[in-house]
Amino acid sequence: MTKRQTEERLRVGRALRELPALDAAFADGLPWTKVRELTRVAVADTEDAWLSFARSHTVHQVERAVAAREPGDLPTDPGTVRLHRLHFQVTAETFALFRDVQARIHADLGGGAVDDDTLLFEVARRILAGSDDESRANYQVAITRCDSCQRVTVDAGGDTVEVDEAFGAMADCDAQQLPTANASPHVGAAPSSSTGEPNGPASPPRGGRVRHRDRAKRATQTIPPAVRRGVLRRDRRRCAVPGCKNHRFLDIHHTNPRCEGGDHDPDGLICLCGAHHRAAHLGQLVITGNATDGFAFHHADGTPYGTGLHPEQVEIAGKAFDALRRMGFTVARARALIAAVQERCGPLDLPSFLTEALRAS
Ligand SMILES: [Zn+2]
Ligand SMILES: [Zn+2]
Ligand SMILES: [Zn+2]
Repeated sequence: MTKRQTEERLRVGRALRELPALDAAFADGLPWTKVRELTRVAVADTEDAWLSFARSHTVHQVERAVAAREPGDLPTDPGTVRLHRLHFQVTAETFALFRDVQARIHADLGGGAVDDDTLLFEVARRILAGSDDESRANYQVAITRCDSCQRVTVDAGGDTVEVDEAFGAMADCDAQQLPTANASPHVGAAPSSSTGEPNGPASPPRGGRVRHRDRAKRATQTIPPAVRRGVLRRDRRRCAVPGCKNHRFLDIHHTNPRCEGGDHDPDGLICLCGAHHRAAHLGQLVITGNATDGFAFHHADGTPYGTGLHPEQVEIAGKAFDALRRMGFTVARARALIAAVQERCGPLDLPSFLTEALRAS
């Protein structure tokens, strides 16, 4: 035994003195690897919960659950979702291409701030979607929600990665559910079909890694296909967020959350691109209203979302601001007038923008 292994045994032994139930389970044959992992997070109050988690999950799953949690956390607590770091060294020409991609996605999403994560999320969806054929889902990601602990994982390149609850909620909105009749915890596959109108049979999943537990049963859609088609048609197959030009890889989002009883009434359904769908589930984009009376889009802080964020609209607003200042308006007043016009009107050219601002003054 190495020095490190000896130290690890001692650490576990010390921890077990405070954890009688875990100690007894170890004596009863709970594998050492699980015991070792549980001693990193379990405390007297939580050891029973961790024990039953360990009994219904594999060593690998226990390791992952422990890695995402702090001592005292329950296995059902939302874990810290790890941020993964990507680092690339590229030539100047590749860098230039990347900047172009960045600018394109920035413009497509309406010109608002696009963080690194949103940028790469969009790049990945565009590449993996492969084709414009809307009649079938051509990209699927295998999302699994564990029945016993509700954690959400994604199969990625042969590995299983725990993802944010928001990503699982996205899949609850609009997905193909594969039958999970025979599934044990963590093995039910619920792939999110993130594009087009997947009304045909489930298309071949990426890399063929989705686990079909029971191939005899058909995959079912979260949203009835006819409703889905109707919403896509109504929203003209575009992301409904003002300013967003994304019209590929659309998801249908439930503005009344499904987990809070939202149904498939088309009035509460809206067509969103992947980036904006995710923003909605992360709480960064707040959508109120309904299809009949119109939807409204706000940032979490209540400021209107999207409009005025077109690069050209930002420029026009800037010029209008300068003009208002030269006319003698104070900075605060000029800003308020600009905001009023942006809130009330769609995209405008500079003269109409100024006219509207002066009318509001
Ligand atoms: Zn689980
Ligand atoms: Zn959604
Ligand atoms: Zn969008």
